[in-house]
Formats: sequence, C-alpha cells, structure tokens
Amino acid sequence: MTRFDDSCIFCGIIRGAIRGDKVYEDSDIIAFLDARPLFPGHVLVSPKDHIVTLSDLPADQVGRLFEQVQIIARAVESALEAEGTFVAINNRVSQTVPHLHVHVVPRRNGDGLKGFFWPRRNYQDGQAREAVRDAIERSIQRLLAGR
Ligand code: 5GP
Ligand code: ZN
Repeated sequence: MTRFDDSCIFCGIIRGAIRGDKVYEDSDIIAFLDARPLFPGHVLVSPKDHIVTLSDLPADQVGRLFEQVQIIARAVESALEAEGTFVAINNRVSQTVPHLHVHVVPRRNGDGLKGFFWPRRNYQDGQAREAVRDAIERSIQRLLAGR
C-alpha cells in the first residue's frame, strides 16, 4: 500500500489527482516530466511512498530506485539525443517539493548550464582537508557499526 501525504503535489500526481506527464510507473516508483524543466526531457524519478529525503528512504529500496534512475538516464540520453545527463537530489536545502525525487537532466556540451553550480573553493590547507576527510570517515564507520 502506497503511503500518501494529502498536501503533497507529487503524491497528488502519483494518485492521479494532479496532472503529471508520466514516463514510467511500476508498483513502487514513478517518473514524470518536470513541469519547469532545465531542458526538455528533464525527468523526476520518485518512490511512490511519501518519503521526504534520500536519508529517509529505507536502505533496501535505494538499489531499486537507482536501478530505475540508471535506466531513465539512458532513456533520456537516447530519446533526446543528449551527450550526457546530470543526475541530482536536493535534500531539504533547495528542495522545493518535500517528496524525494531524483532529477535526470539531459546535457550537451556547451548547453550553458554553468549557473546550476555554485562557486568552488579550496580547502584552507591540507590540515583542514584532512580534518574533514577524517570526520566523514569516522561518521561512516559509526553508521556502519550501528547497522
Ligand atoms: P527541487 O527544487 O525540490 O529539487 O525540485 C522540484 C522540482 O519539481 C522542480 O524542478 C519543479 O520544476 C518541479 N515541480 C514543482 N511542481 C511541480 C508539479 O506540479 N508538477 C511537475 N511535474 N513538476 C513540478
Ligand atoms: Zn508525497
């Protein structure tokens, strides 16, 4: 049984209550055209359950979702005769629809999508980089130990 949130736009699309230009659907996953695409063919891939962020997705569903994302990325490339794709998820920050969705955007060299990225910066020095690397490595070990 799919778990919907009545106030969620994407749940509305999944239920069929709101128009959605569906490109794929199975019992767990839906994919549809983004209403305001970065480029034509910009697809959103979502679990049907109302799950907000990638962190909230049960681990045993991650593989299925990303297998589907991989197929859709290939399909978008092929259908739009694109040279590549951009695949991304906003989690809470910059997330405007609080129902997990993976953006699959067709890309071409020179397509001008530079503004999508924010300024890059260097680490202050090697010590600062190592502190961050070490903190993340230890956090991964803690999460793995707690599973
Ligand atoms: P986010 O900002 O959360 O990463 O992405 C949300 C995406 O959903 C945006 O790219 C936006 O254009 C798209 N979107 C918002 N409302 C609707 C809608 O009602 N229908 C469809 N198909 N896409 C929507
Ligand atoms: Zn929802």
